[in-house]
Parts: sequence; structure tokens; C-alpha cells
Amino acid sequence: MNLILLGPPGAGKGTQAKILVESRGLAQLSTGDMLREAKTSGTEMGHRAAEVMNRGQLVSDEIVVGLIEEKLEAPHGAGFIFDGFPRTLAQADALGALLDRHGQEVDAVIEMRVDDAALVSRISGRFTCATCGAVYHDETKPTAKPGVCDVCGGTEFIRRADDNADALKQRLLEYYKKTSPLVGYYHAKGLLHGVDGLGEIGAVSAEIAKVLDKL
Ligand code: AMP
Repeated sequence: MNLILLGPPGAGKGTQAKILVESRGLAQLSTGDMLREAKTSGTEMGHRAAEVMNRGQLVSDEIVVGLIEEKLEAPHGAGFIFDGFPRTLAQADALGALLDRHGQEVDAVIEMRVDDAALVSRISGRFTCATCGAVYHDETKPTAKPGVCDVCGGTEFIRRADDNADALKQRLLEYYKKTSPLVGYYHAKGLLHGVDGLGEIGAVSAEIAKVLDKL
């Protein structure tokens, strides 16, 4: 099964993707994570992408489609969860063509609906474990023991450079201008399923599970 998680920054795509990796054995493909890795490994592409990302703008279609193309070369039995990709109509067309080349298709698109006010507070308190990537929030999901990851016991945490008010404003603008047209695109293909992204993490994943079990 190939699944797309669609929604603005802070909607909870990454959190739900990780749950689906555990519950359905799907492989998570997050272009944001891939770009952050490229930035850390110090490649020229990573360096250029980092500047664009820190401003809250979208990296070029060519770069992100190239990243996804590489990953699709190694097929994954259970399928993929696309997290943060596609983000433009050109990327959506490219994904359809790439999957088609491998005799596959997009099976469902989950649109995670949230309002902008919730996004600001979600994003501004967000931090992740540097060791295992578990996601936390200062107010809504702190670590049980201060400074220690609940999952792996790691003690180093990261706050993303683009999780600040200015970059978020730009990221939202990019979402509404370039990504939200994908809602209509996938609706027209009969693939769109909306879920309320504002609930508790468990309630959102239950809603997603309900959609997937009906496919
Ligand atoms: P994310 O972790 O999904 O919020 O992505 C962080 C940043 O990486 C975005 O604000 C963009 O600058 C860049 N990015 C991630 N995925 C894409 C994509 N599919 N197309 C263009 N830029 C992307």
C-alpha cells in the first residue's frame, strides 16, 4: 500500500507516519528528513537546500523528486508512506509516473486537517530526540523525566532551525499557495480522505486506521 500524508507544517504527519511504520510495516519516506540529512552530511546540495529550508520556502521539484526516485529503486514489500511529499502539482505528477514505472500506484491520500492557530503553538514548542527521532512538545508532550528521551534514554535534543515564527509564516504561505491544490487533485482522483488532525495522537491514528481498513 502506498499512502500520502498531506497537511500543513505541524499537522502531525511525521508523528502519524512513525505510528504507521510500526502498525503496518510501511516504510516512511520523508523528504524533509532526507534534506536535513543531506544538510548534516555537508553535501553541496544539502548546503543549498538548507538555506531555502531555513527561509521556509520549498526546495526545487527536481531535487526532491530525485531523492524520492532513488528510494523507490529499492522496493519495499508493504509499501511506502510519503510524508511531506508531494508538495506541488509537478511533484504529484512525477510521483504518479515513478510509481507507475514500478507497477504501483498511490492507494490513498490522508489529508490531516488542522487550523493555523494550533499550528503555531504546536511548532513553536516542538523538539526531537537527537538519537532516535522521537517527537516531543514543551507543553503537550514533554519527556516523562526532564532531559531524557522516553523511548531510547538519549539526552540530546534538537530544535529545527525552521521551527520559528518567521519561517513558519512562510511555510504556511507555501503550503496554501503550492501544496493545498493537491487536495483537489487527489479528490478528483477519488483518493482523498480527510481526518481531523487536531485530536489526541491516538484519536488521529485511530481515524487513519479506520480509513485504511476500508480500502
Ligand atoms: P518538513 O520536514 O516536511 O516540514 O520539511 C522541511 C522543509 O524541507 C520544507 O519547509 C521545505 O523547505 C523542504 N521540503 C521538504 N519536503 C519538500 C518537498 N516535497 N518539496 C519541496 N521542499 C520540501
